[in-house]
Order: sequence, then C-alpha cells, then structure tokens
Amino acid sequence: MAVRLVMLGPPGAGKGTQAERFARERGVPKISTGDILREAAQSGTDVGRKAKAVMDAGRLVGDDIMNGIVRERIERNDARRGFVLDGFPRTVAQAEALDALLDDESPLVIIDIEIPEDVLVRRLSTRRICGSCGWTAVPGSTSCSRCGGALVQRRDDDDNVVRERLGVYGRDTQPLVNYYRRRPTFRSVDGDQSPDAVAADISAAVAAAVRVHE
Ligand SMILES: [Zn+2]
Repeated sequence: MAVRLVMLGPPGAGKGTQAERFARERGVPKISTGDILREAAQSGTDVGRKAKAVMDAGRLVGDDIMNGIVRERIERNDARRGFVLDGFPRTVAQAEALDALLDDESPLVIIDIEIPEDVLVRRLSTRRICGSCGWTAVPGSTSCSRCGGALVQRRDDDDNVVRERLGVYGRDTQPLVNYYRRRPTFRSVDGDQSPDAVAADISAAVAAAVRVHE
C-alpha cells in the first residue's frame, strides 16, 4: 500500500528534516512546495509558466496554481507508491483540492509535530547559520560543517520575531488542523524529543493510521 503523508508543524519543529528522513526510508519522494514551484517554473508547462509569472511579479502563488502544480507532481511515476508533502496543503481550500485528487485505495496520513512555544523560541533563537554559505549549523558546533565559515545568528531569529512568526503560523494553520483533526488518520507527534525519537514516533503513528484505514 502507498504511504501518502502530509507533514504539519511550526517553524523549528524539524518538519523538513523529518519529512526528508521518512521519504528516504520509505523510498518515496519528499514533495516540498518550494522545490516544486522552482521545478515547475523551469519546466515550461502551462501551469509552470503561470507560477513563474506570479513569482516574477513578486506575488504569492494562489491556490489554483499551487493545486495544479501539486497535481502534476503527485501524478508522476515516482509518487505512485506514495509521497511526503512538506508545506502543502497550507489552507483548507488546498486540503480539499488534495482530497479530490486522491483515490481511497491508500490512506492520507496527517502528522502534526507539536512543540511548546517556549521550546521553539529557544531552539530558533539559538540557531546559527554560516555567514558565508548560509548552511544551518549543527547545534553546538563552532564553524560551518560545509565550508568552515564563521557562524552568525539569523537576522529573523531574535525572540520577538520568532514569537511573531509562530503566532502567524498558528493563526494560519489552525483551520487546517481543525479540518483534519477528526480523521482517524490524523496523528499528533511530540516534537520535543531527539530527532531519532521523533522519527520513531512518526513511523509508529503512520503504522497505526494505516491500520485504521484497512
Ligand atoms: Zn558555510
């Protein structure tokens, strides 16, 4: 059975890392909106050209275009055995469009990585990036593990900005979480643990959600 996974979680929850890890372990593509927008813009398909025009104008890509791009991506061969979505859906309208795209043969599992705000603020405020190449530093390291450059604090990572970003995330995402929460394939995972422990909980949650579907 295919594993179709939607990964939700606030900035700093490790969502992207966990999505990538899960995808690699299951041999399915990780589909992140940033990547597929860039790909689509380069591909020259009809919907890709529309997305490029919107982005070139400095505007946000709307639901219609976004839904079209996601549809093109998940209809590709490598996603037949499943996929992990990272950054999509972002709105209830997008979630409805995703439901309409999928058949009932495999479940859509929704994993919500939950972390208390204070923990996130601490994590994000102590995050360092490389001043030369922009690589996110391994916690506790003193120089860039990629190029050896000096580490700096990201400008948008000070406490107030972090709390503001988390507030925006919460307001934007709550309707989406409400949309999914009552489903038996929705699972919350405690993100305030080591990456290995979070990954193990995600695997267990997906297994449980798939059993419910059967
Ligand atoms: Zn570097």
